[in-house]
Amino acid sequence: MATNNRHDNIRIVLVNTSHPGNIGGAARAMKNMALSELYLVQPREYPAPRAVWRAAGARELLSSARVVDSVDAAIEGCGLVIGTSARERRIPWPLIDPRECGRRIWHEASEHPTALLFGREDRGLTNDELQKCHYHVHIPANSDYSSLNLACAVQVLAYEIRMAAIHETDELSQAFSEWDQPLATADNLERFHCHLKETMTEIGFLDPDNPKQLTTRMRRLFNRVRMDEMEVSILRGLLSSVQRLRR
Ligand code: SAH
Repeated sequence: MATNNRHDNIRIVLVNTSHPGNIGGAARAMKNMALSELYLVQPREYPAPRAVWRAAGARELLSSARVVDSVDAAIEGCGLVIGTSARERRIPWPLIDPRECGRRIWHEASEHPTALLFGREDRGLTNDELQKCHYHVHIPANSDYSSLNLACAVQVLAYEIRMAAIHETDELSQAFSEWDQPLATADNLERFHCHLKETMTEIGFLDPDNPKQLTTRMRRLFNRVRMDEMEVSILRGLLSSVQRLRR
């Protein structure tokens, strides 16, 4: 089973958390399930005694937690990013359940860093943040009351990663372990999307005043494909040629 190394490749990212108690609760949930890489994106109140109190025996996870300024910084270097969602969004994204989420994360963590993003207590993740993700995961709770407490949601998804680690199989349909190139990291994908948007604007294909859902759909398309580093650099070369012609 588990090598420590694989656990190091699983980041739990809490975005803009309001209640420090939830940060402590998440740390405890993680340690119970043998996870340790906690990232805090602009927590509203942190460090805080209430976080330490709720973390109980998992205090060291709080001391080693990385506090960063942006989601981009938290997912830098990640080959797989999954965002949690408590409800349906306007543009559907590839959606997986907690079991598949656990299996994918555990499987891919043998290849590259992975991240699981959790949103704000009051309004979840923003559309921009969700669009950085390859998949969304929804815990199929009561449809009349589907929003779990943040730390409870961390517990459920961390448990599924734990179960995937214990019952490891290789039956995932889309495995990249034999691939000839590393999968593109989140930061390279972000640079690609900026370049794509810039080029589409320059050639008049994208009207920045009326973008409709174009960039969202482009992000969804390329996140679905799981590009590797070589493919990203080919497409960026193509975009640069288009820009040169235009200029
Ligand atoms: N009112 C918010 C709910 C936020 S709940 C909204 O409508 O989006 C706080 C966080 O807990 C969410 O951002 C998500 O990370 C996690 N969470 C809560 N319920 C969840 C569910 N059913 N499935 C997946 N994640 C959930």
